[in-house]
Amino acid sequence: MGDKTKLNHEALLQLEQPLISVPLEHLRKALRSSQRLVERELSLLATQASELASKAAAVTPGAGTVPLSEHAGHANSGAESSPTQSSILSPEEAATQLSIMIERMQKLKKKLVETAPDSTLPLHRTRARLAHLDDLAHVPATDSPEYSRWCKVRLDRVLAEYLLRKGWGTSAATLSKVGGIEDLTDIELFSQVRRIEQALESHSSAECLAWCTDNKSGLKKIKSTLEFQLRLQDYIELIRSRRTSEALAYARKHLAPQAETHMADLQRAMAMLAFGPDTKCEPYKSLFAPTRWQTLASQFRSDNFSLNSLTALPLLESTLQAGLSALKTPMCSQRDNRSVNCPTCDPTTFGDLAERLPRSHRVNSKLVCRMSGEVIDEHNLPMVLPNGYVYSERALRDAAAKHDGQITCPRTGAIFQISQAKKAYIT
Ligand SMILES: [Zn+2]
Repeated sequence: MGDKTKLNHEALLQLEQPLISVPLEHLRKALRSSQRLVERELSLLATQASELASKAAAVTPGAGTVPLSEHAGHANSGAESSPTQSSILSPEEAATQLSIMIERMQKLKKKLVETAPDSTLPLHRTRARLAHLDDLAHVPATDSPEYSRWCKVRLDRVLAEYLLRKGWGTSAATLSKVGGIEDLTDIELFSQVRRIEQALESHSSAECLAWCTDNKSGLKKIKSTLEFQLRLQDYIELIRSRRTSEALAYARKHLAPQAETHMADLQRAMAMLAFGPDTKCEPYKSLFAPTRWQTLASQFRSDNFSLNSLTALPLLESTLQAGLSALKTPMCSQRDNRSVNCPTCDPTTFGDLAERLPRSHRVNSKLVCRMSGEVIDEHNLPMVLPNGYVYSERALRDAAAKHDGQITCPRTGAIFQISQAKKAYIT
């Protein structure tokens, strides 16, 4: 008992990876950039300190001119004190250099304080999302009010994600505000996606190239070719506007360094110069095609999604497809056998989504009336019309009652009297 209402936590959580991975990726990026900043500044500081120390040692071999050697020696404990420098360091000069170094460190500190919100927001979101997933642990069963509440939040999330993916940012923002799920939606991520996609669709690569620089290491990890393809597009645009020497300089600077991994592309790019934008010859014709910008936009979208562990399909669609696949029968794809109550049969709504889905495995089949969508069984007998088509008794009687005893066959449009229908016997 109680098995039916038992919660399958594992299965529920399996779908939720992107919920955590998006803020995590955001956090990783913020940490990486501040780490890079700190490393750069500290190594610069170490070099400066070491230079200062060796100069100081050259001035006073042995004794040490007090405050300077203390400071310098602190940052440069392993430095050699061979007096090879010809320059002579005055205490004033040393003090000035030290204050420049201190100033740099203060600037670094200020910058780190300024960029702190970059990591506090994803941290806050990760916490909120983990708490939302943790709520599931306290749900006793699928028929409890706690579960309904949790599902309502999940539905809002899934709908907001769908709206964001389709570019309806304002509706998504309203929904997440009304539903109180602002910490559970990634509005900024998708608005950035939208902005860059729109730029690409209006033939501008700058925004996407900047994004590539921001995500260099992540893109390298997923072996993305996006940056090369964007550079190639810029090169193509230069040829299109007949700026050949500029195109060549651009190719030398941005394409040639990646020759090792993109040799075939590079060779084709060079051959484009000989063909020109009006060519009918493939593959150059496709390379010159303006639709290549749309391809770039979709490549950007899919790379960005895989960088953030987001699925290719919106969660709403994949969830619906799971449900539709469970309903889909071999009859569903047949025009003449559509059932009025089957969502998979409806070509205007879910039929399209279900088209490429596998069918469910059914051990028992049942007869469903084409006219009413009701099950045909011993309480609702199958009746055959003179043209050979079978409908349920109840559906025929209802139709006849509305039309003076007349029945119109929905498949052929033929009209019969109810008295002409005969009981069918299935053997
Ligand atoms: Zn169906």
